[in-house]
Amino acid sequence: MIPGIRLVLLGKQGAGKGTQALKLSRHFHVPHISTGDLFRAEARSGSELGRALKKSMDAGDLVPDDVVIKVVEKTLTSGAARARGFILDGFPRTRPQAEALLRALEPLGGLDAAVNLVVDTDVVVARLSGRRVCTRCGANYQVETAPEGGVCENCGGEIVQRDDDTPEAIQRRLDLYEQETSPLISFYDERGLLAEVDGLGDPQEVFDRTVKLLHENGRR
Ligand code: AMP
Repeated sequence: MIPGIRLVLLGKQGAGKGTQALKLSRHFHVPHISTGDLFRAEARSGSELGRALKKSMDAGDLVPDDVVIKVVEKTLTSGAARARGFILDGFPRTRPQAEALLRALEPLGGLDAAVNLVVDTDVVVARLSGRRVCTRCGANYQVETAPEGGVCENCGGEIVQRDDDTPEAIQRRLDLYEQETSPLISFYDERGLLAEVDGLGDPQEVFDRTVKLLHENGRR
């Protein structure tokens, strides 16, 4: 069987992290861990934590680092993620999160790479405005090409527009990306872990580019 991998996906909201994470997780047979999906599931449960998470998410704000780090550490250090690795989608988003991740992975052999999906802001704004997502498996669609009846082709789940894909929340999330998350590109570059991939084009082409680059860099 193909070896596993420990991978972080970086990129602006709408750069295609969710779509690529799904493809990469199937290719490498490792879990796709999306903090946004974990938080949305918690929000749907209606718990007290879920209500607090939903408030941050709907405003496009970041969830506090201590909450995020606790959730991710638990997920990464158990089960399939511990044994084979993972594709992390939407984490880390701040320097304290990136540092916590390095610490958590030290006993497991560290990270293999941080893939940065590079897409211009005007393209991601257009993608986010037309985005529709499956509430069950997280598959992404565009409004013009989403399956009729709003049923996911992948898993049969319900396809909806996200509550935070409003113009105000999109702007807020992109501002926070610039302030908090984009510095992580040099954080990983300094540690020799950065792999930059052009995120424009057909999702399969972007995926092929990513896997080729990981092979070329000796990451897999
Ligand atoms: P996403 O689906 O990755 O766009 O995440 C949706 C929302 O969940 C974000 O806008 C944040 O409110 C929250 N969130 C997800 N991941 C993180 C993270 N690593 N740090 C802080 N907040 C996060």
